[in-house]
Amino acid sequence: MLATKNLKYTYNDDVALSFPDIECQKGERWLLLGQSGSGKTTLLHLLGGLRTAKDGDVIVNGTSLKSLTQEALDQFRGQHIGIIFQKAHFIKALTVEENLALAQSLADKPIDRNRIKALLDRLNVSHKLKSKPDQLSIGEQQRVAIARALVNKPAVILADEPTSALDDVNCDEVVQLLEQQAAEENATLLIVTHDGRLKEKFEHQIILNPQV
Ligand code: ADP
Ligand code: MG
Repeated sequence: MLATKNLKYTYNDDVALSFPDIECQKGERWLLLGQSGSGKTTLLHLLGGLRTAKDGDVIVNGTSLKSLTQEALDQFRGQHIGIIFQKAHFIKALTVEENLALAQSLADKPIDRNRIKALLDRLNVSHKLKSKPDQLSIGEQQRVAIARALVNKPAVILADEPTSALDDVNCDEVVQLLEQQAAEENATLLIVTHDGRLKEKFEHQIILNPQV
């Protein structure tokens, strides 16, 4: 479950953002829509505990993110929240496999190479297991980023514009993949987008109005 109440965030003094309350149940799939600059990425970062709200709170699986110390929050995020950023970023010196293993270690989970291999297989990128991130195409990097976000079987999956750089075929594939993975773990899936192609695919939608 993913919920917010009276959430507000301020960048400096001049950008004050406020967000509609959200309540997403376990297993539901949500789309977060809004024009560029409406605060979609900021909201995703607040939901993932990467930024701290000025006012209000985020509840993930019954836990208030505000109630956690920084250390506890980092561990909680690793265990319960999978985030796919707009632009994938990895540890360049590590292989794809090592990057995923690191995500398991950081969440205090045992390294499970079978899980890593199986996920990469599902995403048709397991032949890159021993490659460095720089040796992958953008599409492959994106699939590895999805694998990394899912490796710890998160209860909440957040994806920031996962389809904006993709053609229609790959757009469908990525959305299907995220939906399948969310369904397997009964996770809550929230996709942030300004991609109109996704609009009919999701029953639940949050629309951010232009702010300021
Ligand atoms: P979106 O993802 O919908 O395009 P963002 O959440 O990135 O929107 O941005 C929302 C608003 O916050 C915009 O006005 C943007 O300029 C501002 N903003 C985003 N990041 C920063 C930052 N690091 N410092 C200052 N202002 C920012
Ligand atoms: Mg954004």
